[in-house]
Amino acid sequence: MTNPLLDTSSLPRFDEIQPEHVLPAIKQVIADNRAKLDELLGSDVQPDIDAFVAPVEHMDHELGRVWSPVSHLQSVLGSTDWRDAYKQALPILTDYGTELSQNVELQRAYAEVGKRLPDDASAESRSAVEHALRDFHLAGVDLEKSAKDRFKAIMQELADVQATFEHNVVDASDAWSLHITDPDNLLGLPDMTIARAAEDAKEKSLDGWLLSLDYPTYDAVLKHADSSDLREALYRGWVTRGSELGKDPKWDNSENIERILALRHEAANLVGFNNFAEYSLATKMADTPEQVISFLRDLSAHSHSAAERELAELTGFAGTHIEAWDTAYWLEKFKQEKFSVSNEELRAYFPVATVKNGLFDLASQLYGVALSPDESVTAWHEDVRYYNVHQDGEVLGGFYTDLFARNGKRAGAWIDECVTRQQLNGFLAKPVGYLVCNFQPPDEQGVSLLTHDEVVTLFHEFGHMLHHLLTRIGFPSVSGINGVPWDAVELPSQFMENFAWNFDVLTRCSSHYQFNRPLPRELFDKLHNSRHAGAALAMQRQIELGLFDFRIHAEYEPDAPVPVLDTLDEVRTEVALIKHPDINRLPHAFSHIFAGGYAAGYYSYKWAEVLAADAFGAFEEAGIFDADTAERFREEILEVGGSREIMQAYVAFRGREPTIDALLRQAGIERS
Ligand SMILES: [Zn+2]
Repeated sequence: MTNPLLDTSSLPRFDEIQPEHVLPAIKQVIADNRAKLDELLGSDVQPDIDAFVAPVEHMDHELGRVWSPVSHLQSVLGSTDWRDAYKQALPILTDYGTELSQNVELQRAYAEVGKRLPDDASAESRSAVEHALRDFHLAGVDLEKSAKDRFKAIMQELADVQATFEHNVVDASDAWSLHITDPDNLLGLPDMTIARAAEDAKEKSLDGWLLSLDYPTYDAVLKHADSSDLREALYRGWVTRGSELGKDPKWDNSENIERILALRHEAANLVGFNNFAEYSLATKMADTPEQVISFLRDLSAHSHSAAERELAELTGFAGTHIEAWDTAYWLEKFKQEKFSVSNEELRAYFPVATVKNGLFDLASQLYGVALSPDESVTAWHEDVRYYNVHQDGEVLGGFYTDLFARNGKRAGAWIDECVTRQQLNGFLAKPVGYLVCNFQPPDEQGVSLLTHDEVVTLFHEFGHMLHHLLTRIGFPSVSGINGVPWDAVELPSQFMENFAWNFDVLTRCSSHYQFNRPLPRELFDKLHNSRHAGAALAMQRQIELGLFDFRIHAEYEPDAPVPVLDTLDEVRTEVALIKHPDINRLPHAFSHIFAGGYAAGYYSYKWAEVLAADAFGAFEEAGIFDADTAERFREEILEVGGSREIMQAYVAFRGREPTIDALLRQAGIERS
């Protein structure tokens, strides 16, 4: 076999995979799948789980294994070659996906399997069939030929425009930099940020410092730069990315936004929904748009006045009017003053390797799993590490970490599946994942120190990873994070964040990079006391994003589309407390909803946070390392993937349905 992408016998051969392998590999695996499917549908065998569903699931699994490295590499390497290869293969893949989900014969076969499912069929096989039947409908299987073709064309175009949207954001961010020659402008900035900016300047043969718009730099400037002008400059760069006000109009996403909304609305209409918000909810835990909107407004009703108090206190503390680029700075100063806690002081205790080890320890304590590095695994970049997860001598799966920011890499933190767990007809594939962050790269001494926020981020992503790795489900379509309603997917991750606020856990995760001591109790207490500072403001911010996303999809009118910036203004008037300047183009770089899976689903963070906070409440009640509670969480939530209706699974774990009280308590907001 000469094409390394097609080798799915073990981990992807990252040292050999090249962009030119993409097209032939994708074409090949799709051609193979088509042939196998024809054979299946052409045979006279009565379709049942083993003879029919299992092979179809296996075909999808094979395709996923070939495609996963491609989609991953284009987002972490971001070279033109990788992006081109990705964009060329995308239509073929989208085409095939729609063709499958619009295949009437396939749908009939699934319906047949569903009808003949024995009473004692496993929950996972039942869910796999039910999900498939639902998805056939959502892809327009019941439509007339012309409507079907149109649906397919929409999916094609959407995939393309969404990919362009994301690439514009990355390119616009990478192209932005600010050259500084006067060191006074850098006052207040962490040494690491300054050192990095000096290196970046040197690399471009410039004097002084070059500030770029990667997230760690942006975050450090907004939180720490004493110069309000500098903060404003970075803020302006950040909030105009991908817009007509950005550095180069060729990265303007304005038209892409309009097009994406129009296409989504049309697709939703074609399959019988009034708008894309309804379509989005067809696969989620929330039932109706009204339910989502009132959930967000209810949360806002609880936290709005607390947020007002926070802002008043902050403004009083600053002694001046607070602009959008001042909030993080004054909040940081306020925390230092009131709780004597500084992110930079804390950072010295969190070398990334120590945090990782402590986190792995926590997983061992809770779930009895052991994690060990495997140096022999090849990867796509020297920063990448690979870990095996095992228990009682059995390897459950493994994952790659790629933790540091670099040019061309998509911003943010996320996990993705490399291999989904499959155990069907005697074939076992163990789950493998990617855990990606954008932390500040190690300095010349090889030290990378995390802020506590970043520690929380790592816990969050690791929570997703455990969901992916600890699953016991054999049908890939409902295994791990697959088939889990999007608004519940953030349960395991946000649940995990809570542990990053516990002293015992942080003791294990910390070691001062110079003095080798864990985080002192006194410093932890300060951090802990500061947890609620700005929490209601942050809550309002998430509600603002969630409401904006949901409304633009729910209220879209094809004949008279309302400019998204108008809707944003309305939402901000309703819930936001921080006033943003007119140049703010939040939607233009809002990849979560325009390029990712959060379309009409950003509310999911808050929705799932209710579940996460309430679930953690069970640990608080029993003792946060309580073995029985952890085992129940693992069995009822982490292992079941999408095989079980989520509310049932939740009640099985908690003994009751969730309430928002725990979330409000966590944010320091009393229930009013
Ligand atoms: Zn997440």
